[in-house]
Amino acid sequence: MSKRDYYEVLGVAKTASDDEIKKAYRKLAMKYHPDRNQGDKAKQAEEQFKEVKEAYEMLSDSQKRAAYDQYGHAGVDPNRGMGGGEGFGGGGFAEAFGDIFGDMFSGGRAGGPRGGRQVYRGNDLSYSLEISLEEAAKGKDAQIRIPSWDNCDTCHGSGAKPGTSPKTCTTCGGNGSVQMRQGFFSVQQTCPHCRGTGKIIPEPCTTCSGQGKIKRQKTLEVKIPAGIDDGMRIRSTGNGEPGMNGGPPGDLYIEIRIREHDIFERDGDDLHCQVPVSFITAALGGEIEVPTLQGKAAIDIPEGTQAGKQFRLRGKGIKGVRSSYPGDLYCHIVVETPVKLTEYQRKLLRELEESLKKGGAKHSPSGEGWTDKLKRFFS
Ligand SMILES: [Zn+2]
Ligand SMILES: [Zn+2]
Repeated sequence: MSKRDYYEVLGVAKTASDDEIKKAYRKLAMKYHPDRNQGDKAKQAEEQFKEVKEAYEMLSDSQKRAAYDQYGHAGVDPNRGMGGGEGFGGGGFAEAFGDIFGDMFSGGRAGGPRGGRQVYRGNDLSYSLEISLEEAAKGKDAQIRIPSWDNCDTCHGSGAKPGTSPKTCTTCGGNGSVQMRQGFFSVQQTCPHCRGTGKIIPEPCTTCSGQGKIKRQKTLEVKIPAGIDDGMRIRSTGNGEPGMNGGPPGDLYIEIRIREHDIFERDGDDLHCQVPVSFITAALGGEIEVPTLQGKAAIDIPEGTQAGKQFRLRGKGIKGVRSSYPGDLYCHIVVETPVKLTEYQRKLLRELEESLKKGGAKHSPSGEGWTDKLKRFFS
């Protein structure tokens, strides 16, 4: 099943501002709310909402949006979101409306690692790292800058302005969850007022806007294993976004992009390269030098080598991360037609042609077969 474009899902332009994206999300969230979609429509509305929610989560995060703009769905990892997004009871509607109403009413998010009833794992982050083919073959220690969250120094993580303190949420009595009726069922949902923390911050800390955490940058050392291939991902456990209410942090996924190489094309563990050979060498045979990732190698070209012939250099490919042996290097022969000939060279070639004609089809490996095919085609 192909995934719909996130912008299309939200019905916004690719150039939409954060505000426009948020507005579109709210509108759609209201549309698919269970209160308005009872009975037969409930299941479908829930599915549609999940799609909308995922699109919003991706496009409202500038890093994920950038990754999505560049690589499409391959650039972002929507699963493992907060609460798993399963149905109404988990991180589905309840959490989304917590998001929306939280913004509208509480004036700041209640943060802090303690006291919450509803525990959410942090979102995973995705990072795209471009490396060269040589680096992919040999492996590399890379340093990347990623966002990290520290406890706010001003409020020491409480999210409350110094001198004030968080109060117990009156909506849920500090439980962090409320009972909601959905058709026949009574469902426990995250309290939309305090977002599950059980606490309200009357005066949010101005340094962190009540989040209790400050976003910074940190440098992460990443070991890229030798043989890694384009599109592979390395997981860095716990380096994603922080969890909520004491939940564990998400993971960071480093997605490897391998830059196009001037000479080699990779196919799994094998490498391919095009090697130009003069038509004289192709006709007479001879030794030619070919490049390998490790340096140079020589190939003996036999007499009468045709264009497109390939020579395999065993073990001169790449040893994949899960392979026991390196792949091979395939050199594809490209026979070159000489250009910018002098009068003398032209004369030599004409003489050569005359001489070849006298020999008839025997000088042309595809000659007789080709003549037969033409005869059949035109008859
Ligand atoms: Zn603070
Ligand atoms: Zn509450």
